Amino acid sequence: MTQVPQEILDSLTKVKMPSGVLHKEINGTIDIDGITCPIYTAEAIVLGSGAAGLRAACEMKRAGVDVIVASQSLYGGTSACSGSDKQTLHTAGTSNNGDNFNKLAQDIGSGGAMDLDTAYIEATGSIGAFSGLQYLGLPLPQDRFGAVLRYQTDHDEVGRATSCGPRTSRLMVKVLAEEAIRLNIPFLSGSTGIQILKQKVNGKETTCGVICIDRNEENEYGLSVVLADKVVLATGGPGEMYRDSVYPKHCFGSLGMAIEAGIDVTNLTESQFGIGTRRQEFPWNLSGTYVQVIPYIFSRDDQGNEYNFLGDYFRTTQELASNVFRKGYQWPFHATRMLDYKSSLVDLAIFIESRKGRTILMDFNRNPLPVPGDQEFSLERLDEDVRTYLENNEALQEMPIDRLLQMNPLSIELYKMHNHDLNVEPLPFDVNNQHMNGGIDVDIWSQSSLDSCYAVGEVAGTHGVTRPGGAALNAGQVFGMRCAKHIANSGPKAPNLTEIESVKSQVLLVIANIRDSLKSKSALNLPFLSENVQSRMSDKAGFICHADEIQQALQEAKDLNKTISTEGISISEHREIARLFQWRQTAISSEAVLTALNHYADQGGGSRGARAICSSNGTTAPATRLGPLEEFRFIEEKDDDKSKKIVLTYQDGDFSIKEKQIRKMESPSTIFFEKNWANYLTDRIYEDGFRHT
Ligand SMILES: Cc1cc2nc3c(=O)[nH]c(=O)nc-3n(C[C@H](O)[C@H](O)[C@H](O)COP(=O)(O)OP(=O)(O)OC[C@H]3O[C@@H](n4cnc5c(N)ncnc54)[C@H](O)[C@@H]3O)c2cc1C
Repeated sequence: MTQVPQEILDSLTKVKMPSGVLHKEINGTIDIDGITCPIYTAEAIVLGSGAAGLRAACEMKRAGVDVIVASQSLYGGTSACSGSDKQTLHTAGTSNNGDNFNKLAQDIGSGGAMDLDTAYIEATGSIGAFSGLQYLGLPLPQDRFGAVLRYQTDHDEVGRATSCGPRTSRLMVKVLAEEAIRLNIPFLSGSTGIQILKQKVNGKETTCGVICIDRNEENEYGLSVVLADKVVLATGGPGEMYRDSVYPKHCFGSLGMAIEAGIDVTNLTESQFGIGTRRQEFPWNLSGTYVQVIPYIFSRDDQGNEYNFLGDYFRTTQELASNVFRKGYQWPFHATRMLDYKSSLVDLAIFIESRKGRTILMDFNRNPLPVPGDQEFSLERLDEDVRTYLENNEALQEMPIDRLLQMNPLSIELYKMHNHDLNVEPLPFDVNNQHMNGGIDVDIWSQSSLDSCYAVGEVAGTHGVTRPGGAALNAGQVFGMRCAKHIANSGPKAPNLTEIESVKSQVLLVIANIRDSLKSKSALNLPFLSENVQSRMSDKAGFICHADEIQQALQEAKDLNKTISTEGISISEHREIARLFQWRQTAISSEAVLTALNHYADQGGGSRGARAICSSNGTTAPATRLGPLEEFRFIEEKDDDKSKKIVLTYQDGDFSIKEKQIRKMESPSTIFFEKNWANYLTDRIYEDGFRHT
């Protein structure tokens, strides 16, 4: 890369967010059990102000919907706060020869368990999603002919990825927030949704708003109620569920809240795990150029002894170095890539080394040390794809730090901003939970199984087993646009303040719950819950998981939730009230994940994107230079599982489990202009949710 002036680097890393969002005015108050509770009304509420929620809100407002946004933290969440070396946006490729939407859809859904219509929608919708962001001023890099610059990322053989640098999703939030301000969308900032309100309309359950805990409310609990005809959950992923996690802190999402409301959730077995710097320092993904420059990966024990542990796994220095490089675009762990000395053997080696109590480090000032008995590292001895990539990027400098400076100076800046100079110190890291591919089951307009309640962004379970890197951000934009269209078309009603009467009993229960918890002396407090849930999830349901331990972990999760329902959770201060609900819901979400995993493993389900399911009955074991790793013998995925989704519904404290065939996609070649125009003109296209399949 030609030297880029510091102020340009700064503008792409130190992204300043806009101020001046409009505050939503109170529409009324109601006295409930001694609490003066403010009521807000709107035709639609979006819960969450990440990239997905803001897109949904802006599109709705433009379509004439009276929408408000309520968010725990205006610029919190993963879009605003996380990233990687170059955070990726995956869309149809517009450079070179253009793209083929059918092929793109196939690639998006290639890991299986993904609805094929959803994959096609994400493929075609990516163009509009992308150009909308460009129009709002997202600085996507172009060549001098106007084509957007592209590169190859995870599960992407074509090179459809693009990026504005490490803070792409933050820049997306920035331009969308600027638009929300221009559109005068009112916000409740510092407002955490804790319960979805429901009512029956003509015998059918439907949502009618949300109960929130708001930092800025004056009543003693910070309680408020938003009455809305449509609710859009855009709260991101359940980032607090795992101890070993690269999510920013305080990402709870609303998966558990949706489960409590009886909404169907799907594919909860599917997550992404991969290497990143730890949450106790600065959580960040180490993908892309961080590993493509081939730094030395080693471990260090308490006495300061260093171990070239990867040398025990790979057979030659060339194989070791080439697989470190490949983690750049094969970043998420995948069980099959532990075989044949491929790149996920690196993740497994890190897992084994961490269990010895050693710290894993990446050093940019040293090239990899050789595999014992083999030749030294040399840029002349790399697999062909690796050598070509470095050559094409003019990155054949002697040291990894110089190759990094050449290919991606922003990645160095980023750690500098967080007090870590890669020029000086090796970087501690680990394999972490990064993204949930499953979530709320939604139809092609993003509506959940609860009428009028939608889910977009990471909280929606649309991805199946794997996804190309960058497909998460794209999905949030595409379905943000689609839910807005659907809501606008349905003609949302403005709620009447008197409607509070029909949901008062639900608010009363919440108040009773808060009071019980403030009085409670139960040992189940928030630190206990976080430790209990997170360690079980990381130790028993992480990317390496032992089949014979799942049942026990599930039983422990069930026992925890039973105790919570009988004894309650204790909190000592009013400022813990929102967390009380978030931890209760995280405990339920973790039981849901383990229920799905237990079901999957019981049916003989094997290892795939999220995790290796290890068992002595496994059909294959990873090989290393020193022999096979029998402890990690694993069950392989059954092909049949690729065409199914596991769907859970929670009712009366228990989960029911269904296996659903993935939705098919009609051949786009049968869709003709004249045949379909009328469906568009008469709005019939909006009728086609999953209720019709
Ligand atoms: C380290 C890392 C790197 C990543 N890299 C990529 C990448 O390169 N490409 C890609 O496509 N994806 C990537 N992802 C995933 C992607 O960033 C997320 O899936 C995406 O940003 C989620 O956007 P969202 O709008 O759904 O949620 P978020 O951006 O998480 O926003 C959620 C919002 O909801 C609010 N909120 C949460 N709970 C509540 C509640 N109960 N009530 C009210 N408000 C609430 C939060 O404050 C926040 O405003 C990465 C993730 C991580 C962790």
